Amino acid sequence: MSRQPIADQFDQPIIVLELPARVGSHSVTLECTARQLADLEMLTSGAYRPVTTFMGYDDWRSCVESMRLADGTLWPIPITLQLHSQVLPASTCEIRLMHQGRHLATMEVMERFTPDLAREAEMVYATSSQEHPGVVALYEAGDVVVSGPLTIHALPRSFTGPEYLTPLETRLAIRDRGWRTVVGFQTRNPVHRAHEYLHKVALELLDGLLLHPLVGETKSDDISAEIRMRAYRTLLENYYPRDRVLLGVYPAAMRYAGPREALLHALSRKNYGCTHFIVGRDHAGVGDFYGTYAAQELFDTVDPAELGIEIIRFEHSFYCTRCEHVASKRTCPHDSSQHLALSGTKVRSLLSGGAMLPAEFSRPEVAAVLADGYRSV
Ligand code: ADP
Repeated sequence: MSRQPIADQFDQPIIVLELPARVGSHSVTLECTARQLADLEMLTSGAYRPVTTFMGYDDWRSCVESMRLADGTLWPIPITLQLHSQVLPASTCEIRLMHQGRHLATMEVMERFTPDLAREAEMVYATSSQEHPGVVALYEAGDVVVSGPLTIHALPRSFTGPEYLTPLETRLAIRDRGWRTVVGFQTRNPVHRAHEYLHKVALELLDGLLLHPLVGETKSDDISAEIRMRAYRTLLENYYPRDRVLLGVYPAAMRYAGPREALLHALSRKNYGCTHFIVGRDHAGVGDFYGTYAAQELFDTVDPAELGIEIIRFEHSFYCTRCEHVASKRTCPHDSSQHLALSGTKVRSLLSGGAMLPAEFSRPEVAAVLADGYRSV
C-alpha cells in the first residue's frame, strides 16, 4: 500500500491511503451500528438526495471545509462510512453491510482514506470536546473511511409503526391532501406546549404540517422514539385538525451538530416535500455548545434561492402565567419570573422521579403517556 500526502489549499495535512489496484479480492462483512444503519436508510430512501452513497474523499473534504459537496452543492455534514482499520484488510474490495443477519447492501470499495477527525470535529461540531456526544460518536466510529457505489439488496427500515413514510410516500401523501405549502418540524424531544405553539402559529399561515420526529439513534438519556411517537399520536387525536397534519418519522441518527445539523435537517426535508421548515431556539444543539440562535444565524448566511426551502424562525417560547398562554418575548411583556420553561434534563428528572409534568408545560394526555412510558422502562 502506498501512502500519499495530498498537497492542497488546506492547512491540515491529510493523508490518503490509496488502494492497490484490485490486488486480492477480500470481501468484508460488516454488522452495521445503529448510526451506520440510519445513514444507509437515509441514503437509500432518497432522504439525503443528492447524496446517494457514502462520501469519498473529495466530497468529505469539501463538505468539512466549505459546507459543500465537491461539485459545489450546499451540504453541511459528511455522510461517511467509517470503520476501524484493524478489521479492514488492505485488499478489501467489497463490504457487505448487514443488519441482524440480513444482507442490506454491498459497497464496491473504490476509495479508502484516513479522515482528519480533529478537523472534522472542529469544523462540523465547532468543538473537539469529548463532552459532546456527536464528537464522541465521530471518534468511536473508526479511523478509516471507505467509499464506492452501493448495491442495495433490502431497504433498511428502522421503524415499524404506521407512520413510516419514505420521502416519495410523504410527497404523495402531501399531493393527495392538496397542500401547496407544507412546513416541516424536526424534533428529538417529547412534544410539549411550546412545540405545539410553533406548530399552530405556522399552521395559521401554511396549508399543512409535517410532524417529523427523529427516530434514529439519540443519546442514551433522551426519551425513546417509541414513547415520543405515542405522545404525538395522543396529542394529535385531542388537539390538532386531522386534515392539516401528517405524522411521519425521520430515520436519521442525531448528531447534535447544532447549526450545521439544522441545515442538514432543512435540506433533507425538501426531499420529503416540505416548502418551509421550523427553526427555533438551539436547534439540534446539546448542552451549551451553540448559541441560542446560532442555527438561525447560519441560515442568514445562505442564499435562500440555493437553500430552496423557507425557514420559519421562532424565538424562545414559554408558558407565561400572567398571559395564561404560550408566548415569546415578541408577544409577552412580563418578566421571566412569570415564565415556565423546563429544560430536557428537568423533564427527565421529573419523569424518573414519578412526577407528572405540569399542565402548563405538557398537555395532561401527553404527560400521562410520558409518565406511563417512564414507569414501564
Ligand atoms: P432538536 O432541535 O434537537 O430536535 P427539540 O425537539 O427540542 O430539539 O426541538 C425541535 C424544534 O423546536 C427545533 O427547531 C427547536 O429549535 C424548536 N424548539 C423547541 N423548544 C422550543 C422553545 N421553547 N422555543 C422555541 N423553539 C423551540
